[in-house]
Amino acid sequence: MRTIGHFIDGVETTGNSAEFQDVFNPATGEVQARVALATEADLNAAVASALAAQPKWAATNPQRRARVFFNFVALINRDMDELAALLSAEHGKTIEDAKGDIVRGLEVSEFVAGAPHLLKGEFTEGAGPGIDMYSMRQPVGVGAGITPFNFPAMIPLWMLSPAIAAGNAFILKPSERDPSVPVKLAQLLIEAGLPKGVLNVIHGGKSAVDGILAHDDIAAVSFVGSTPIARYVYATAAANGKRVQAFGGAKNHMIIMPDADMDKAADALMGAGYGSAGERCMAVSVAVPVGDDTADRIIAALKPRIEKLKVGPATDAASEMGPVITQASKDRIAALVESGVKQGATLAVDGRGFTLQGYENGYFVGPSLFDHVTPEMDIYKEEIFGPVLSVVRSKTYEDALKLTMDNPYGNGTAIFTRDGDAARDFAARVNVGMVGINVPVPVPLAYHSFGGWKASAFGDLNQHGTDSIKFWTRTKTVTARWPSGIKDGAEFQMPTMK
Ligand code: NAD
Repeated sequence: MRTIGHFIDGVETTGNSAEFQDVFNPATGEVQARVALATEADLNAAVASALAAQPKWAATNPQRRARVFFNFVALINRDMDELAALLSAEHGKTIEDAKGDIVRGLEVSEFVAGAPHLLKGEFTEGAGPGIDMYSMRQPVGVGAGITPFNFPAMIPLWMLSPAIAAGNAFILKPSERDPSVPVKLAQLLIEAGLPKGVLNVIHGGKSAVDGILAHDDIAAVSFVGSTPIARYVYATAAANGKRVQAFGGAKNHMIIMPDADMDKAADALMGAGYGSAGERCMAVSVAVPVGDDTADRIIAALKPRIEKLKVGPATDAASEMGPVITQASKDRIAALVESGVKQGATLAVDGRGFTLQGYENGYFVGPSLFDHVTPEMDIYKEEIFGPVLSVVRSKTYEDALKLTMDNPYGNGTAIFTRDGDAARDFAARVNVGMVGINVPVPVPLAYHSFGGWKASAFGDLNQHGTDSIKFWTRTKTVTARWPSGIKDGAEFQMPTMK
């Protein structure tokens, strides 16, 4: 049985771990590896290694730090097939989707290869008599990232790339359900020229996270996962005096206006609702057609597409949707589908009881489509995180907008229409962080930033883009006066620009 160790001070190690957790193959339900769970001593070793490495790394000029990322990007591309296979084997998503997971993370590493430019400060010459003022961005020291299972490459790369390029050392605590790719990424960074200790990876669940949140030598914490844990991480890290950003769950609505191209909208809903088995924080889980005629047309377009959807293991190149992550997740989704039926929604496509020959023990879930869903139903209130799409019919555009805005989550949303005025109004008024106009999954590119509103994000500053450079650095502002400017003796009043 393969053992997945931590990555501390440049080497993979099980450290002091006495406990291990099974890592499953979601397509077969078999245990394929076990992952070491960090003890307090393992976390302390990782932090000690990070603290020792950080000053020299911060003193390495930004251009040299950036070059490590140039090399890293090339190495990820070299090993893309191997990384994608490893990712799919633990997560279950298709190989092409696994490559998408890696590439969307790699793009953030490409973005931070511009660190010398991104880290430039501000300068004001002659801010007062003989006075120059300048601001510089300095690393926070040791940062930590805690990541979810659903993007085991992209989300670690969102965090570690800007943190490290800015001169920090970093502790990554990836999801214990699919921990191999993060360790592989750490090994590739060493191969790319990163000094040992600048990136350490420790595995574990709640106790590892609690150790990070309480550790005096960790200055900043970035979290991505479910909303209850995001709230907890935000509150606990802040109470311990740390800088923190914590991103949570989602319930993303897509509005379909009567003038939308129904075939394009249906294709968009297929990828956004069922891609990666619905296990994306930017998945569309609620379709909101405006008017009964629009609803009937979109459902008529969706049904044959869903019935044709090819569910299968990542090892089958024809698969369009893989299994969900665990048996518990599969059971939870099945219970929610039953609750939808009991609470009066119409099950327009019934994915219940799905099995795949040869993979009877895998965590495959058949795709379901609900019509006539109302906001009181559990399938509307819960983030299902599975291949279940709910249609909530609305009478008017204003009703559809209100539904989206009244939802407690605010990660992503989209509108499908040919009417520029409606699209513009929607983008301006909706209280959601990422908006798509005829784009169902509006995940911003690396040089913009990613983040939701409301219960989808706590704290300030988004992932990647210039926000990430701000999050992983502190501003220091220097006011300098040289002797030739001092001519009038001491001053005792608060200095103003009079
Ligand atoms: P999760 O909240 O269960 O786990 C996330 C991380 O927290 C993992 O590293 C896990 O080990 C740790 N953790 C789990 N329980 C904990 C506890 N009690 N105390 C402290 N730490 C704990 O999330 P998940 O199931 O891995 O991922 C799916 C969730 O993540 C979904 O809700 C999804 O919407 C969300 N997500 C959000 C974004 C975003 O950018 N907003 C992106 C991806 C995923």
